[in-house]
Order: sequence, then structure tokens, then C-alpha cells
Amino acid sequence: MLPILNTSEITVQQLFHGLSAAPGVGIGNIYKYAPVPADDSGRTAPQAAGDPEEEWERFLAARLLVDEELARLSQIGQTATAEIFLVHREILHDSTLTDAVRAAIDSGIDATRATRQATGDLVRLFQDLSDQYFASRATDIRDVGQRLVFRLGGITSARQLNPLPDNTILLAEDLTAFDTTHLDQAHVVGIALAASTPTAHTAILARSLGIPLVCSAGAEILQLHTGMFGVVDGIRGRLLVDPDEETLEQYELTRSRLRRFQAEALSQSHEPALTPDGERIPVRVNVNSREDLLHIHSNGAEGIGLLRTENLFQNRTSPPTVSEQLAAYQDVHSYTNTHSLTVRLLDIGGDKPVPYLQPSAEANPFLGVRGIRLLLRHPQMLIDQARALIELAQNVSPVNRIRILIPMISKVNEVHQTLELLEEIPGYQHCRHKLGTLEVGVLIEVPSAALLAHHFASQVDFLSIGTNDLAQYTLAADRVNSAVATLATPLDPSVLRLIALTCEAGRAAGIPVAICGEVAGDPSVQPLLLGLGLNEISVAGPAVPLVKSAIRRVDMDAARELAATALNCSRAQEIHQLLHDIG
Ligand code: PEP
Ligand code: MG
Repeated sequence: MLPILNTSEITVQQLFHGLSAAPGVGIGNIYKYAPVPADDSGRTAPQAAGDPEEEWERFLAARLLVDEELARLSQIGQTATAEIFLVHREILHDSTLTDAVRAAIDSGIDATRATRQATGDLVRLFQDLSDQYFASRATDIRDVGQRLVFRLGGITSARQLNPLPDNTILLAEDLTAFDTTHLDQAHVVGIALAASTPTAHTAILARSLGIPLVCSAGAEILQLHTGMFGVVDGIRGRLLVDPDEETLEQYELTRSRLRRFQAEALSQSHEPALTPDGERIPVRVNVNSREDLLHIHSNGAEGIGLLRTENLFQNRTSPPTVSEQLAAYQDVHSYTNTHSLTVRLLDIGGDKPVPYLQPSAEANPFLGVRGIRLLLRHPQMLIDQARALIELAQNVSPVNRIRILIPMISKVNEVHQTLELLEEIPGYQHCRHKLGTLEVGVLIEVPSAALLAHHFASQVDFLSIGTNDLAQYTLAADRVNSAVATLATPLDPSVLRLIALTCEAGRAAGIPVAICGEVAGDPSVQPLLLGLGLNEISVAGPAVPLVKSAIRRVDMDAARELAATALNCSRAQEIHQLLHDIG
């Protein structure tokens, strides 16, 4: 089992919490990367602007070279990375970008500065929309801008990234895919980003390069300096600076065990996760974007345990039609082969806003009209989404069935009202009760839902526990507020008690209970999760092989004992210690 670090003992200013975006442990010296803004033309000498037609020709020639480069890159490596470069080719040819470059050239500036200016304006436009999706598109545009400027003979910041000294921890606000593909891969042992997300393209590339990455670590990390010694903990999403000797030794041990463990885990990732007592635990994948689908094959995931559908509804002015949704779900389903697909009904609200559905801003969106609350106010949205899923369920077999997951349930009535709406949809009864190709489940992420789970467990086919929100709501600690991030741990005994209650409700009703929160991706918590009674696990793609491997080592009797002890603890630290002791 992997050793666990008791990071509660590390002083606050040395420990930065972020999100795990690529697993592993990197130990080395920080190199702080400060890229030149995309349109910072003052830092490089402007080239004399020639005739606008000549400058335009220069731009077109550079664009052709970039296009060839991206086409080449999209043909090598993994499919996930190939898709990134295809997206970049689309941006390269997008008329918004080329028209802006043309206009800037026509105003009398050279092609290099025109490209910087046009991409810089677009990047700012997307960033100002303060939406996670647009933020990552901004990074893509900056990336394409860098490639064009490079081909036009300008200087790009990525030059600072190669060569780098041995054992470098790269620290930056964010990195573009261009930065990541140009960095000195042989010498970077870890990446820590103040911003970005685990599904951003940089994270995907880091995972495919095997470089541990922590993102969303907060602007405070930008106060750190080049040359400082640190540890990137890509398992738990942490950056440590100047750790004490004992902590460092533990991390060195973790790193070497992890390397052995990872190689072994990957070689067996297509085998089922079976405990020595013969308990079979399906390990599925959480899917937020197309890139995540590729983990199903490469990492041996047994279907999709959580498809977040918000992306389909965001960045548009009206909801997708039933047929648009059906096409999207069919596409996702085609990746699952002989496994099931769990689709969460739209969970809009909280940190996932959709302007056309929420005309007025809420003071406390996480406590507002979110998930099922919103859908029950817009029943046609719920019906349309369910119609697409039921249509899909009519053409699949029970092994690769469709599971509808209802988010943000806090009242029993909400389950009843949702089921009543579903029952009216043609095909629903047939698929759910005759063909066995459709299931309905409740996402347990509000304490009241865990406390009342026994009331609705008999009416649904499965429960799934969303520990990200369950911890947030149980501990009254905003999950996106880094000032209270340490409070909202799913390993708090209060949260564990709610998990145990939910498992008990599932057991009594004879239905499986899954977990799909981030904590489930930590290999070292598997004995505790199984001991609490969880039957299915759904995690981020890169975690699948390690989680499966960890499950294969769980002695169920010992796990139940561990869970009983944990439930009697009064503090999260004691639970961390328990896991450390069995590690
Ligand atoms: C959760 O809350 O644990 C969960 C899986 O859903 P999300 O993170 O999308 O809110
Ligand atoms: Mg949630």
C-alpha cells in the first residue's frame, strides 16, 4: 500500500493545496516561469512593417508552417494529445483570428506584432468571460499565437523552458500546450500551477508525459522563487516548499514505491479489481470532456461512473435539442464497450453557471437553485435530457446500460417529482423495468440526502456519493474558497458517517452504492471506502490503474474493522493517521 503523509503537521506557509492533475511525486528545485504576455510587443524589437500585402503573405506563410507542425503533432502520440492539436488547427484557421490579424496589418504594423496583438486581444476577451471553459480556450489561443510568433521569427517565452536544470519543479500561473510540448521534459520532475484545471490541455499533456502536476494551487505560489526546494505531490494535489527532513524522506519513499507500483498497476489495469476475498469492485471513470473518454481503453476503466453534462449546455444561448443531446450521448456511449454509462442530469448552478437558465445572479449560488432544484423549475429541460437518454437506452444491451443520475437531491419530494416526470416519458418503463437497459440513481452530495437515503433507496436502482459536495455542505466550507479548503475534507469523521449511512441504506434496499468524488482517486483510501461498504468506484482517468491495484490488496475483514475505528474518530487527522499506519 502507498505510504500516506501526515501533512497536517506541515506548517501552513510551506504547504499549498491545489488539485491533482497528473499523479506522481516530483522532488527538486523550483523554476519560476513568467511568460511574456501574448501581445507584449514592447519586449521584442518590432520588425519594420513592409507593405501590408507582404506582411500578410508572411503571416500566411507562417500559418502554413504552424498548420503543418500541428498536423504532424496530431499524428503522433496518444489520441488525447492528438485532439488538442486538432483543436489548435481549428483556432489557427478561425476567421475571428485571421480577420483581426489582417486588420492590424492593414493599420500599418508588421505581421509579428499584428499576430501578438490579435491573439492578445482574443485571449483577454476569453479570460474576461471568467468561465472555466473560456479560460482554457484562452490558453489554446495563446498557444496558437506563440506558434505563429515563433514561425514569424519573434521570440516566444517558451524559450525559457529549454534547457532546464536537472530535477526542476516548474512553477507558473498557467502553461500553454505549446509551453508543455517545448519544455525540457527530461529535466522537469513536477509542475505546479497557480491556475488551470485537471482537464486543461496542459494537464492532459503532463499526464501523457508522466510529469506530476498540481493545478489551482492559488496565486500565493507565485510569491515563491526560483531555486527554492520543493515537492510536487500529484497524488493529493499539493505543493510543499522546504519540507522538513522526515517529510522529505517519506516523499522519497513514496516516490520510489509509486514508480514500482505504477508500472505494475498499468500492466494489470485491464484485469478486474478483485479483493483477495473475491469482492469484485467495478472501477469506472469520471468524464468531464472528450479527452477523459480515452482513459477507458488506455487505463482499463469499466465504463463511465459519472458523465458531467454541463459542458453540453454551456457556451451557447439556448439548450441543446433532444437530437443534439442524443448524438452527444451516443458518441460517449460508443467508448464504453461492454460497460455501463452513468449520465448525471444537468447540474447547473454553484460554480457551473449557465446564463440563459439563470437570468439573475445569486448571492450564495452553492446554496441556491442548483442541480435538480433548477431542473424541477424547468421541467422541459429535464424531460428533454431524459428523452435523449431513454432513446439511447432503447438501443443498448443491459451490460452497457444507461444510468441516469439525479444531482443535488436534498428532499425526498425531489426524488418523487423527478421519477414522476420520468415515468411519463415514452419508453422509460419499458427500458427500466422490461429491457433492463435503464437505471435511475440519486447522487448523494447533501447531508440531508444521506440522512434520508433509506427513504428513497427502495425507489431507485443505485446511489452514488459525491464527496466533493458532501464535504462542502457537511462542513459548511465553500469548495472553491482556498481559505477554507482544508476544512472541507471528505475524510472528516462527519462525512464518513454520512457515507456509512448511505451505504447502509443501499445495503438494506439491495442496491449498489458508488462513490464519484475526488477522494476516491486516492489509492490509499480504498480500504476505508470498501470497509464503509462502497460497491463501485468512479475516479479521474489517470487514477484507474492505481485504484484497481490498491483494491486488489484490500482484506475486507480488516477494511471493515478500519472503517469501524474511523467512524469512532473525532478528527480527520486521526483518520489520516489510521491510513498512514496501515500504509
Ligand atoms: C461531487 O460533488 O463529489 C461530484 C462528483 O460532483 P461535482 O464535483 O461535479 O459537483
Ligand atoms: Mg457535486
